[in-house]
Amino acid sequence: MINVAVIGSGTMGNGIAHVFAQHGFAVALIDISQPALDKALGTIGKNLDRQVAKGGLTDADKTATLGRIRTFTSIAEGVQGVGLVVEAATENVELKLQIFRELDQHAPQDAILASNTSSISITKIAAVTKRADKVIGMHFMNPVPVMKLVEVIRGYATSDAVTTQIMDISRQLGKTPTEVNDYPGFVANRILMPMINEAIITLFEGVAGVEEIDTVMKLGMAHPMGPLQLADFIGLDVCLAILRVLHEGLGNPKYAPCPLLVNMVTAGRLGVKSGEGFYTWGHGTKDLIVADRFKK
Ligand code: NAD
Repeated sequence: MINVAVIGSGTMGNGIAHVFAQHGFAVALIDISQPALDKALGTIGKNLDRQVAKGGLTDADKTATLGRIRTFTSIAEGVQGVGLVVEAATENVELKLQIFRELDQHAPQDAILASNTSSISITKIAAVTKRADKVIGMHFMNPVPVMKLVEVIRGYATSDAVTTQIMDISRQLGKTPTEVNDYPGFVANRILMPMINEAIITLFEGVAGVEEIDTVMKLGMAHPMGPLQLADFIGLDVCLAILRVLHEGLGNPKYAPCPLLVNMVTAGRLGVKSGEGFYTWGHGTKDLIVADRFKK
């Protein structure tokens, strides 16, 4: 079994480290921030406790899983001897290009370099390395231990052998990998973000209110949550950034972000993480409460 390094120990990185370790892989979890690493280990411990409480894992599985994760603050040290790196650092092009230059320099020559990016071109990331055939997208969904999908994104130069290996490794994690090509938004966000944008345009144009739009999509289309609630969870800034990638990358005005979304992000109304988006958050109840601005 290969050893794995995970770069970035935030929301996605801790989940990715968790599932690899749970399935027997030795994991080096790497972050520039020691507090982020400490927090990630705490989160993984709590999430494992939940799995134990539900009967999915034993206490011994939990201890073994945590025992397979080592933390590092240096990429050069953490990637020694690994066969796969999964990068899940902050979504910023320049940062990712710099990390991949470093990975190319320090990771073993035959190691596969994967990125969990939501929207940055895998081909662009691969181009800064000397191993573009071994660079691939491995797009996990949030929360990683729960969600079954891994969107496997082939860059322009990704080899068949590397794609097959990543599909196999994803299955070993109990996930369902799906192969897609590297174009803006891949498949998940190419389809999801225009739907969220259209929901915001529908609100902006006064066709219906927040609750009505989400209710139609929940009950009418059997979606577990409405698009406006989902946007609040994802973060309105993240939604805006991905729509801009689609708009610029595909050059089609249909992807232009709704002016209401732009205004909300400019005003710092980012959804759950800022306490308010289409709904208000942090009120300590499980009720969905529409933000004052959108109340009728
Ligand atoms: P996050 O902000 O929660 O975590 C990012 C982590 O990266 C932080 O702990 C930060 O300290 C670390 N980091 C920054 N620079 C670094 C460096 N040079 N070396 C090592 N670590 C560094 O972000 P996130 O939500 O976990 O997103 C990570 C990636 O996953 C992004 O590319 C994002 O687009 C993608 N993604 C996110 C989601 C989601 O729902 N949050 C879903 C799918 C994909």
